[in-house]
Amino acid sequence: MKMFFGLLFFLILFSCTDSNSPSETALDIHPVLKAVEPGHNNRLADRINLIIVGKGYQNMNEFLTTMNRDLGFDGLEKLNPESLDKLLFGLFAIEPFKSQRSKFNLWYYPEQLQSKSPEEFLQQNRDNPGSSAKDFGLPFATYLFFVNPVESPQSFAYPSNVPPGVAPVKSAFVFGSATVTRYPNVADGVSVVAHELGHSIFNLRDEYVRTGPDVGDKYGHNIARTQAEARQLWGSVETQVDPFYYTWKEKMIANSLWIDSSNPLFVQYDAKQGIDIYTWYPNEEEIKVGYLQGGGVTTTGISWRPTKTSLMNNEDVRNKSWPKFPPVFGSANRRVMQSVLDLYSGK
Ligand SMILES: [Zn+2]
Repeated sequence: MKMFFGLLFFLILFSCTDSNSPSETALDIHPVLKAVEPGHNNRLADRINLIIVGKGYQNMNEFLTTMNRDLGFDGLEKLNPESLDKLLFGLFAIEPFKSQRSKFNLWYYPEQLQSKSPEEFLQQNRDNPGSSAKDFGLPFATYLFFVNPVESPQSFAYPSNVPPGVAPVKSAFVFGSATVTRYPNVADGVSVVAHELGHSIFNLRDEYVRTGPDVGDKYGHNIARTQAEARQLWGSVETQVDPFYYTWKEKMIANSLWIDSSNPLFVQYDAKQGIDIYTWYPNEEEIKVGYLQGGGVTTTGISWRPTKTSLMNNEDVRNKSWPKFPPVFGSANRRVMQSVLDLYSGK
């Protein structure tokens, strides 16, 4: 039986290789998975393998169109007048993904999940002890599920094990998985993909505030217990501004979409509090790394975070004046992400 499969595997590989033109290599050919972008993947390269799986779309084409819109593989932001966001920053339009694209192989599973849940898919394909088929034979694998929100309303992620406060050790990495709930016909909120990969690949924490006895404590790279711990974790980038902030701001200004904090946008009158609510895009101070009290998921509410707002802080606030959610990780998170990505040559 084993020999039979071995032979079949060889034949599949061989026939695929054969059907390509001689100038192409077969390094983006996989016996099960398909390459998101022909010619980009290299199975033998030192890269993170991102495996994308769809569920709940009308057909494969609808899933792939949604996936491609949200990945933004060409690295360019897209004008989308029908959306509230207007300018879409897909995953690869956001740093560090934009400049580090060569550190990733991008695969998709050739069928959508039907009755199977993402958890069941993971169980079958991740935890298969002694099998070379684990993670489809790919090292440093991480999973990204695109689910039509009709099926499941909430995006979430299982974080990786990249440990905070110490230099990361590549051989110990176990990347997690992320599920993003994305409508095929609503592009708003596209940066949720980058947010969830912040968890599943880099083990970043949420920076929005969830407090209560039943939520558990989620301290880590970007959420500290004390200011002293915060200094240890991100003191090396104190006062820094993520350079992508300026790139993003320029593009927003060029498209007449920027809302400056000096001239904020009126949102609504809050009759309960008797105050006007405003919003704006974060100014330099609000994305500069420092030590801000609060944030993250904690039982006590006692915590420190690095910036007023960031891509890991996607809180929609309606009852107080607050900067809008930016597609910018901030320098504290960028430092962690870079320390992981630096361990991959991409070649
Ligand atoms: Zn999150």
